[in-house]
Amino acid sequence: MIENLNKYGEVLENVSLKKYNTYRIGGITKYFVMPNDIESLQKLIKYLNENEIKHMILGNGSNVIFSDDIYDGVIIKLDKLNKVEVDGLFLRAQAGVMLPKLVQISVENNLMGLEWAAGIPGTVGGSIVGNAGAYKSEIKEFLLNITVIDSQGNIKIIYPSEIDFKYRHSSFKDELKDLVVVSAVFGLMPGNKEESLKLMEDRRARRMESQPLEYPSAGSVFRNPEGDFAGRIIECDVKLKGKTIGGAKVSEKHANFIINYDNATSQDVKDLIDLIHTKVLETNNIDLIVEQEFINWE
Ligand SMILES: Cc1cc2nc3c(=O)[nH]c(=O)nc-3n(C[C@H](O)[C@H](O)[C@H](O)COP(=O)(O)OP(=O)(O)OC[C@H]3O[C@@H](n4cnc5c(N)ncnc54)[C@H](O)[C@@H]3O)c2cc1C
Repeated sequence: MIENLNKYGEVLENVSLKKYNTYRIGGITKYFVMPNDIESLQKLIKYLNENEIKHMILGNGSNVIFSDDIYDGVIIKLDKLNKVEVDGLFLRAQAGVMLPKLVQISVENNLMGLEWAAGIPGTVGGSIVGNAGAYKSEIKEFLLNITVIDSQGNIKIIYPSEIDFKYRHSSFKDELKDLVVVSAVFGLMPGNKEESLKLMEDRRARRMESQPLEYPSAGSVFRNPEGDFAGRIIECDVKLKGKTIGGAKVSEKHANFIINYDNATSQDVKDLIDLIHTKVLETNNIDLIVEQEFINWE
């Protein structure tokens, strides 16, 4: 029994997770807390760990696949940690800030470097954890330090050299799983607002053309295998472009996207992922790795 979570922030009970992930799927969470500030978050994390209460941090939910089941614990969302400070070539951003907003602030301040991130619908926290990237850049390249909360609720500063960053992965997903990212300092370069805006506009147009942004999804489903593209294999080798299961569909526009086409359940999405995985293994002998994270599955 959890009591008085209100003292840590805004609390919702028995809320549908559909509103909180970009696939628009998932069951209900028993508790949903938006801490008021860093201190409240510290206390909340300490309390939940001391009492062994199941919990997780959710960013914008753009890289997760919740199951249809009830999440029997506390989902913590950092929407109130949304400050950005600009200091010369440095930006300090709290974990709940959305990447497009961070990029917009950097460009307005004539800072260059983060333009690649303008179309990624994730938070600073979630994007550091997954080492988000695009157009040959990754978030790790711009990080100077990261402020985290450990499992006892203590604040610590850690440096990129202490974190193992890989393609769409960091040690925040395994050895450092207990740490909550609170904020990060980014080092940028002097830039030119007009040039940055032009670059962002070109890329926005490319995304609009090549990605099914008109439907709920969570971006690329599978990592690209060495020397090939998951989208090409799904489209050309196993011919699953357009395949539907229930309300989930392999996008006609980009075969490495699964879209919530018509009130999909989480199980529909998972079944489609499993089907693609099995077919690619049979046909190409390639064991595709899912880039998105399954949460609350048996
Ligand atoms: C249309 C579309 C396009 C996309 N394009 C790209 C792309 O070009 N490149 C790319 O890399 N990704 C892309 N993505 C995927 C996704 O947007 C990124 O992976 C993003 O960085 C995820 O951030 P999030 O805040 O949504 O994380 P979430 O999905 O909310 O969470 C991901 C993981 O991070 C953990 N987490 C979140 N915040 C914290 C925190 N503060 N402390 C500790 N753990 C935390 C969560 O517990 C979870 O394990 C795309 C997605 C969509 C829908």
